[in-house]
Amino acid sequence: MRYCTRCVMPDTRPDLALDAEGVCNACRHFERRAAIDWDQRKKELERILDRHRSPGGRNWDCLIPVSGGKDSHFQTIRMLELGMNPLCVTATTCDLSEVGRRNIENLKSLGVDYVEVTTNRRVRATLNRIGLREVGDISWPEHVSIFTIPVRLAVQFRVPLLIWGENSQNEYGGPAADADNHVLDRRWLDTYGGLLGLRVADLVGREGLTARDLIPFTYPAEEDLRAVGVTGLFLGYFLPWDGFANALVAQGHGFTTLPHCVEGSLVTYENLDNHQTGIHDYFKFLKFGFGRATDLACLHLRRGRLSRSDALALVRRHDGKFPWTYLGKPLGKILEPLGVTIDEFVAICDRFTNRDLFVTDAKGRLVKDRDGNLTLKRPEPADPKPVASPGRRAEGRTGPKPATPPRHRGGCRPTPGLRHAKRPS
Ligand SMILES: [Zn+2]
Repeated sequence: MRYCTRCVMPDTRPDLALDAEGVCNACRHFERRAAIDWDQRKKELERILDRHRSPGGRNWDCLIPVSGGKDSHFQTIRMLELGMNPLCVTATTCDLSEVGRRNIENLKSLGVDYVEVTTNRRVRATLNRIGLREVGDISWPEHVSIFTIPVRLAVQFRVPLLIWGENSQNEYGGPAADADNHVLDRRWLDTYGGLLGLRVADLVGREGLTARDLIPFTYPAEEDLRAVGVTGLFLGYFLPWDGFANALVAQGHGFTTLPHCVEGSLVTYENLDNHQTGIHDYFKFLKFGFGRATDLACLHLRRGRLSRSDALALVRRHDGKFPWTYLGKPLGKILEPLGVTIDEFVAICDRFTNRDLFVTDAKGRLVKDRDGNLTLKRPEPADPKPVASPGRRAEGRTGPKPATPPRHRGGCRPTPGLRHAKRPS
């Protein structure tokens, strides 16, 4: 496991590559932004939008897939500013939180037509369970449906232009050709849409699932897409994308953040709408040795808002904690609709844990602290100065799993003794 010499992203991240200087492709993509003529890109965007404005205003001009989050607020606000009449479409998340619902209602109040599609809850729970057990991703149905449902509605309502947000391959690292791409089509979805080799068509007949159950998770047929001329663009290609700035814009328009950091995260303003997201992020940590805190630290670091040593300290403090709660909801309650117990969940976690990345004992068993947290093997990213890391002092302890979940101690609240803590050497 090697880390980018500029940010704190490890090369275990899928599609991320380090160049000869040890710099990752996400950092290189960001570096190249300085040379982009954004005025030119904005004009290009306006030309595309003009081509898609509905003649005589008889139909919507574009369709915006929205979750209600900071980015979808930003996309919607920008489209309204550019004179577009959008139809906003939400594919409901797997386990919508209260603050998520509040933000959806806020987005509707921006002055747009809006449709929300909620898939069959029973089918959804089955897909969550299959995703978790088979590919280690509880969020599999969500990641599929946030792409398929808006595209299906674009076909149905005959609105050809879809306005997506960031290109994750550009923001987080990916092949150059795909990072510079500004079109989201079926090929992009198949490659980067998070299907993890579990294809929708393969699910028919599993646990009683029928083709009918999977309609919302199925990408429209090629001839239907062609008939309407469906095309999707990444707004992040045309406007300099910054999630933090988007959050500020969204907040200025009534978007609600949390009063404390989201569990496993560094910030208060994103991934607020689905209680299952903590599990999704934790599995990323188990498979690749980094979590959401790393993603966020890198985004802020590249934009000069965080030093590398602070980023490193924050990542060590927040990444990869066992997801006992998310957005305040206890793990047991999150798993209940799936029919998965905490014991089974822990066993699934162990099955998907990359043992090359984590400390094991002499018998090859994963070493966990009393809260069930694992310990990443060294080396960690090159560290210019010693940094306090109270979260990593549990190395070597193999205490039993707690009978009851410990109280969540995450968030941005100060930890007593942090100032004096020394990193174990
Ligand atoms: Zn980097």
